[in-house]
Amino acid sequence: MDIMEKLEILTDAAKYDAACTSSGLERGARPGTIGNTTTAGCCHSFSADGRCVTLLKVLMTNVCVYDCQYCVNRRSNDVRRTSFIPKELAELTMGFYRRNYIEGIFLSSAVAGNPDATMELMIEVLRLLREEYRFGGYIHAKAIPGADPLLTYRLGLLADRLSVNIELPSSQSLALLAPDKAKEDIFAPMRQIRDGIRQSKQELVRYRHAPHFAPAGQSTQMIIGASPESDRQILLLSQGLYRKYGLKRVFYSAYMPVSDSKLLPVREDFKPPLLREHRLYQADWLLRYYHFDADELLSEEQPDFNPLVDPKCSWALRHMEFFPVDANQADYEALLRVPGIGVVSARRILTARRWGSLTFQDLKKLGVVLKRAQYFLTCSGKMLEGLQISPDGILRHLVTLERPMLLQTEPEQLSLFEEAV
Ligand code: SF4
Repeated sequence: MDIMEKLEILTDAAKYDAACTSSGLERGARPGTIGNTTTAGCCHSFSADGRCVTLLKVLMTNVCVYDCQYCVNRRSNDVRRTSFIPKELAELTMGFYRRNYIEGIFLSSAVAGNPDATMELMIEVLRLLREEYRFGGYIHAKAIPGADPLLTYRLGLLADRLSVNIELPSSQSLALLAPDKAKEDIFAPMRQIRDGIRQSKQELVRYRHAPHFAPAGQSTQMIIGASPESDRQILLLSQGLYRKYGLKRVFYSAYMPVSDSKLLPVREDFKPPLLREHRLYQADWLLRYYHFDADELLSEEQPDFNPLVDPKCSWALRHMEFFPVDANQADYEALLRVPGIGVVSARRILTARRWGSLTFQDLKKLGVVLKRAQYFLTCSGKMLEGLQISPDGILRHLVTLERPMLLQTEPEQLSLFEEAV
């Protein structure tokens, strides 16, 4: 099999991994220009300093000894199999890098033989890149659960970011759908990476040339919709992961039906829950930047998000006793809770009001989305002039604002939308 064929198979097999946001561009070479772009596995991810980088997203191998029901690479699935030799993949990466196709690599793998053997192959790719080709670009590598801790450590010294996929939101689902994977095999490397990052940071304060261990932190991925867990269970788990393991990101990946297994939703009727994935990302954002607690957003009585409004609006509508908040008086925490006010606009409000009282026009200029915020805000004690307020009316208007997003993610849900408005 030639390298292009391997690349096609192993980038295609990697596309279900959501630990970076995928996209790509097909553009042939044009007369008078140098270089072109290809869709083969390029994706965008965010580096530690917040820059967006284009990565080659690829598997080391799609030969797998495990049989995770939700995975296209599972042992029992009849797909073409192949593996890279470490030198092939390292040279390919350098070639793409020199042509300016990519800025780095996102390397994952199925489990060929056993976790240790697989990790050794991945480490060799990274070693070649870093030590022989002196590659200074971004590397995101997946640690294989169950591998020797020493191998995870070596991987962390070569990569910028590590991730260990949690895959499913509960140990029951893991036992059912991925019986070869033990919960502890996933949490042990997460713990090790957390401790390694902490230790590396401390050593770097004292010794300038101390080795960097996973300087861009660690992340994980969870599949949504393959198992019966509620949004609340998922969000509580994410909150625990952020707090306990210091994760940079939890990625949510709507389940794509790739199997007829009886343990999974029936393939024919199943639509990937993209809107649900989107709501979880919004809620995740609230946990990380808006100081919300998972228990505030969802409860045992209401364990799933209303798909038609974003989680912050949903929370605000259930807590009208908290509003209206006055833009000229409220503290940062209270402003952050107002739908339509983000981290940046809340800070701008605090700065701008030192020079005088703000009006609704001023808030608009500061980046507040008044279409949402108007129902929850006053300026010097006054609501926006001419505003009609009834809880039903607010809900209907907020749902209307979501229509373009609904069209993009799940147009089938439009009937639900029409009913609500
Ligand atoms: S270990 Fe499971 S999820 Fe990973 S490639 Fe193999 S079958 Fe797929």
